Amino acid sequence: QANVTDTYDVVVVGSGAGAMSAAIFAADQGMSVLIVEKSDKYGGTSALSGGGIWVPNNHFFKARGGEDSYDKALTYLKASVGDQVDEKRLRAYLDNAPKMMQYLQENTRLNYTVAERYPDYYQHLPGAAPGGRTLDPELFDTTALGDEVEHLQPASPTTLLLGKIGWTARHAHKAMAKERGWRLMIVWLMLRYKLDFKQRRKTKRDRRAALGNALIASLRASLMDRKVPLWLNTDFSELIETNGRISGLIVKRNGQEQVIQVRKGVILGSGGFEQNQALRDKYLPKPTKVEWSATPPGRNTGAALEAGQALGAATAMLDWAWWAPTISVPKEEKARGVFAERAFPGAIVVNGEGKRFVNEAVGYLEFVDEMYKDNIKTNGKTVPAWAIFDGHFRFNYAMGPLMPSQVMPDSRLPKAWHKTVYWKADSLEALAAEIGVDAAGLKDTVERINRFAASGNDEDFQRGGNVFDRYYGDSNVKPNPCLAPIKKGPFYAMRMDAGDIGTKGGLLTNERGCVVREDGSEIKGLYAIGNCSASVMGTTYPGAGATLGPAMTFGYIAAHDLAKQT
Ligand code: FAD
Repeated sequence: QANVTDTYDVVVVGSGAGAMSAAIFAADQGMSVLIVEKSDKYGGTSALSGGGIWVPNNHFFKARGGEDSYDKALTYLKASVGDQVDEKRLRAYLDNAPKMMQYLQENTRLNYTVAERYPDYYQHLPGAAPGGRTLDPELFDTTALGDEVEHLQPASPTTLLLGKIGWTARHAHKAMAKERGWRLMIVWLMLRYKLDFKQRRKTKRDRRAALGNALIASLRASLMDRKVPLWLNTDFSELIETNGRISGLIVKRNGQEQVIQVRKGVILGSGGFEQNQALRDKYLPKPTKVEWSATPPGRNTGAALEAGQALGAATAMLDWAWWAPTISVPKEEKARGVFAERAFPGAIVVNGEGKRFVNEAVGYLEFVDEMYKDNIKTNGKTVPAWAIFDGHFRFNYAMGPLMPSQVMPDSRLPKAWHKTVYWKADSLEALAAEIGVDAAGLKDTVERINRFAASGNDEDFQRGGNVFDRYYGDSNVKPNPCLAPIKKGPFYAMRMDAGDIGTKGGLLTNERGCVVREDGSEIKGLYAIGNCSASVMGTTYPGAGATLGPAMTFGYIAAHDLAKQT
């Protein structure tokens, strides 16, 4: 029998962006709050994300003269999500997301700016915006965290310049699209990092947290301002229901089981189940592997899902993830997502028959969804898929962990990457033989894409045909910034797995963030946000930041709802 050790108004489980924001909102509503986090680091996947937050009709964009409206955003969300999600939840999102961000910007250390040119992902749908809905973090000086910086989940090297220097999404895009002044900007960022002598004497870690790390560091500092306790090494396993409402939860803190009581309720924000192979096998399409996930190993194993199910909670979309193609790199603890590179001109992605199966520049969720669909058609020849590119591409652009060879020539790549991360040969035929892809199919496909590159028209998949595709294209390449011929040896291949950045199905909630049963009745005092809840975005990914946005917004909604409970 575990002992009751503590009582709070609200306990928040997990320390991702949704959970931490929810704790801030709850504290600011005058409630006593505790955060429990299973690992010895706070921040979860949120800390190693891009930190982008999708907030249609936000005040940042309007302040700069941008145009958007609630109705336009609702049209877009309804066109994307369809009837998979109750419209009340869509409306709750659109009503509260702008308020949530404005509150954080004005009352906490969070500092965001609007990505005016980052387009929504589904440009063909009514209400899609060409920019202004994604918000990105500015750099955050971690000095404010003091020693707490040691417990901050480190950023993924993929999100940092040269794997260590903090930069914003704005900087990263300028470099990737090779916009004017990009070289100078990189030199300036490198110098600023190197000349920070005080920090350099201590550590390689940049003083300036970036992207998801900036988001989490600023939330953590804001929680410290409010003296909200955060218990690390505290593993939640079970909910306690008394007289029809949640009265507490069972955790193991530093190995010791204990009961924490709640006066008002529990907000579950402990991520999805992507790190649990048994649950992946049970729910996700096959083949599926924990190792393909770009999320921190061992963390999000579905504890909230199982605890909710034990109380009769309804679930939805358990067969879906926030898909993203990934590549596993030797000695790295998690896979890397391949987000932007697929749009760069001169690389294509093929299946085992050597055929393209998708517009490579589409959003990452659709990309893997198409991989799975094609895998059925090809009888298992599309997972993994293969990115194919030539010496010209390799010199000029990054692909996964391969920085352009003008800065990282093949001779400087780790030996262990050859034939695990990338394959290389003098001819397309030889490359096809190395990776087990049909050589004639590949040759045909390359001839075809070379014709499309010359005309600028991808007759098969319309790559580069809209503003979203072109966002990551090379603005110097004409006539289509996403298409270039593949003809200059040596030729390269990189493996792409059917990965994810978290699962997106989970406990079903209503428009107040409250977990419901199959009959729609609420489990009183139980709220779920982020990837442990079934996404308000249904099976879609309408824009950059469409996972963090809902996690934080439903944290805002849940905290305000809890404040009203007696
Ligand atoms: P997490 O942030 O993973 O937090 C869950 C926390 O709960 C973890 O710290 C975990 O340790 C803890 N936990 C788990 N089980 C327990 C337990 N039993 N007891 C206590 N604690 C527990 N999304 C965007 O919207 N915008 C982006 O720019 C973006 N970029 C991304 C880039 C990369 C490289 C990756 C990998 C993902 C990106 N994503 C982005 C996706 C986004 O990061 C995740 O969908 C989001 O962080 C999930 O938030 P969460 O709060 O549900 O889970």
